[in-house]
Amino acid sequence: MIYKIAIIGAGPAGYFAAQALHNLQNDERTFAIDMIERLPTPWGLVRSGVAPDHPKIKTVSKVFEKIAGDPNFRLFGNVEIGSEISISQLREKYDAVVIATGSSLGKKLGIPGEELAGSLSAADFVPWYNAHPDFAELNVPLDCDTAVVIGAGNVAMDVARMLALDPVELDTTDTADHAIAALKKSKVRDVYLSARRGPEHAAFTSPELRELSKLEHTNVVIHCEDIDAALVRAGDAPEKDVKSNLDAMALIADNQQTTHERTMHFLFQHTPKEIVGSERVEAIVYSTPSGDVTIKCGLVITAIGYHAASIDGVPYENGKVVNEDGRVADGLYVVGWAKRGPSGVIGTNKSDAAAVIELLVGDLVEPKNVGDISDVISVERVVDQAAWQRINEAEIAAGEALGKPRVKSVNREELLKMAGL
Ligand code: NAP
Repeated sequence: MIYKIAIIGAGPAGYFAAQALHNLQNDERTFAIDMIERLPTPWGLVRSGVAPDHPKIKTVSKVFEKIAGDPNFRLFGNVEIGSEISISQLREKYDAVVIATGSSLGKKLGIPGEELAGSLSAADFVPWYNAHPDFAELNVPLDCDTAVVIGAGNVAMDVARMLALDPVELDTTDTADHAIAALKKSKVRDVYLSARRGPEHAAFTSPELRELSKLEHTNVVIHCEDIDAALVRAGDAPEKDVKSNLDAMALIADNQQTTHERTMHFLFQHTPKEIVGSERVEAIVYSTPSGDVTIKCGLVITAIGYHAASIDGVPYENGKVVNEDGRVADGLYVVGWAKRGPSGVIGTNKSDAAAVIELLVGDLVEPKNVGDISDVISVERVVDQAAWQRINEAEIAAGEALGKPRVKSVNREELLKMAGL
């Protein structure tokens, strides 16, 4: 029997769901998978989220391409759910629909001044430097000497690092051309990354902390007193991850002898209270255990987590799709960040998707056999796997001449032209 499964979203969770389906095929059942993606390019956060100076993390795209190479897999890129086809139309046609659309909206602090010019969300800044077509026009004011990044997770660390490294280090990466040009003109020399709690509660992972010492042109400043106090609070038997993080931070605190032009400062126990400015951001006020502290700055980037954007016909609550272990409704499932919220690394989505797909396969009855997406949408502008491969090859070829892994286009029409459409 052949079951038709639609996966919405071509990010890590979507590909791992497809992989899990492949793994559950047997002599009695096969799965014809249609993956639908809003952008002309797949790979989700691997393309538009992972920091460009972390190319190793992006090698997971090879796994995605292997999954996409299966004869029962079809990519429908440049197709938007809602405008071109609805969830209910998909549910009529497919034996199961899997939502894998992630969490794309940045959480807000909810403090005065957050709407001022120069106050941005990492949910906008990260895709800006990663050449996401929807964010190419973002106004990122880099004409100030000080920037502040709020949050103590890996996204905050990526953002602070991108602002604090010497942009020459980006020349050999796939950072968007417009971002490299803007960062080269940047006057920012001090970047403060602020956590509202102590180092023992930071959400960074220790490999990312340890990587900071490899920055060749940036001082990284963590105060020894902050780590000493955290060690006392953490007690004799801290959890493994906490110990590993505190060890990595202690190493940075002990080794901050460099005198580069650019500095990344870590602030702990700084809770954002107000962003101040008349026309644009001029300063941020924190409450700290020793009273209010004001830092003059021209740019504030908030990296405090994400919530999922809603899709018509899908129930949402607290920034996630309402679900029970990935089941949303009859024939409708959810995987990845849209299911569990924005947590875990890329690999976390593999086991997460596998568990949901196991339930999905257990729920299947007789195949519907009533057509597919191509009965509803016009296929002329669809980026299928072959068309995506043409974009991929063109981007890689453009990068080769410049010593970069690829040069990404930020223009949808140009991407479609590269796809031969
Ligand atoms: P995260 O790890 O959940 O960190 C969010 C941070 O924001 C926490 O430090 C949290 O502090 C802080 N925060 C939340 N609300 C706040 C508020 N109102 N005021 C001040 N601070 C606030 O989220 P993320 O950094 O967005 O990362 C999402 C996931 O992607 C994580 O699992 C992360 O590890 C992963 N990721 C991995 C990599 C990598 O592997 N290289 C890179 C990027 C992202 P509290 O703890 O005090 O709430």
